[in-house]
Amino acid sequence: MDSGTPTTGPSTPLVRRLWFQTFAAMAVGVVVTLLTHGAAAHWLGWMGVIFVRLLKMVIVPLIVTSIVTGVASVGSGRQLGRLGAKTLVYYVCTSLLAILTGLVLVNLIRPGVGADLAGQSGSAMPEIQTPGSLADIFVRMIPTNPIQAMADGDMLAIIFFAILLGVGLAHLPERQKDTVGRLFDQGFDLMMMVTGGIIRLVPLGVLGLISQAVASSGVKTFQALGLYALTIVAGLSIHWLVTLPLLLLLLGRISPWIHYRNMSEAFITAFSTSSSSATLPVTIRNVRQRVGVSNSVTSFVLPMGATINMDGTALYECVGAIFIAQVLGFHLDFSAQLVVVITALLASIGAAGIPSAGLVMIFLVTESVGLRGPEVATVIGIMLAVDRPLDMYRTMVNVTSDSAGAAIIARSEGEVGINAH
Ligand code: ASP
Repeated sequence: MDSGTPTTGPSTPLVRRLWFQTFAAMAVGVVVTLLTHGAAAHWLGWMGVIFVRLLKMVIVPLIVTSIVTGVASVGSGRQLGRLGAKTLVYYVCTSLLAILTGLVLVNLIRPGVGADLAGQSGSAMPEIQTPGSLADIFVRMIPTNPIQAMADGDMLAIIFFAILLGVGLAHLPERQKDTVGRLFDQGFDLMMMVTGGIIRLVPLGVLGLISQAVASSGVKTFQALGLYALTIVAGLSIHWLVTLPLLLLLLGRISPWIHYRNMSEAFITAFSTSSSSATLPVTIRNVRQRVGVSNSVTSFVLPMGATINMDGTALYECVGAIFIAQVLGFHLDFSAQLVVVITALLASIGAAGIPSAGLVMIFLVTESVGLRGPEVATVIGIMLAVDRPLDMYRTMVNVTSDSAGAAIIARSEGEVGINAH
């Protein structure tokens, strides 16, 4: 039931032109916003807003059609189970690798030790909500009303329902399977087509989004929390430039350079939207059409990844929580740091693929080692000042890990059409 979308070469003139336009837009956005002291965001921002709305518009129909066709084409329960197990093992392992990278760096650099952040809280403390418990998150995965879940954009619930539909479809008698299956197949092709049109607007969207980001975070706030931001940027860079490329190379025998080039539109979209969910349509399209992974793997691995596999966020949770402990003068011994590692993993699984979701989840990690009270909220509030650029980068890392996972798993399933060299 694979819809067999054709694979296009990685460097068609259109793709190259889009690349160039996007980088030009990014540069123009940064320069113009800095020169106008943020005023440019008022007249450029709407393009970013419209771009994100367009992306969000296609998410639910794209995910539902993609998962249903994907799961149905995986077919038997055993194959589905194997794919599911591989996906989960990959997600947990890469997130743990990211967390360990962050753990080592935050203990080496110790950005929070001696940082006097309490004095900088100011009067305009942002409102921060604490997340629900992880048990809640798992129970809510089962929608009582799937239509409502789709209307609310409740990703885990939508995925759960779509997987069940896919399994059901695979077991339908041949005649009905043909009709319903074709409906979903063609629906998926249609959504891919619409997504392709939206991708052409990436440069305009990026122009608006970058301008907004520069206006809201500025460069100054970045300096105040420099060492903390630097620790996270260093960790994310190691994961993005060393760990994930090595995994692609060693586990998938895939050239990281080629893979990253094939995923460039998704990376730029993730970077500018700070949302793995909003980027998902672009990720799916890039992995299907440019990396060349089959629909059965793509549609299973990617929607799940955008929701639960967040390497960048996991690293950030770990560094952030230990940073808070350092700022407040708490010593976290080995076992406390182990708890941080485990809860950082769970927090990244529970974090939604939307901007700043990771910041809110830090409460879960700090609580787990007994760090609570208004001081914690104060420090998290201050961290919010530099969250946007960090969020942009960690979202890109999140999306990279999803796409690498799809390619590696496809390879391990014996797929031959991967653009690997
Ligand atoms: N913005 C991230 C994402 O969508 C989540 C986070 O805040 O870390 O992947």
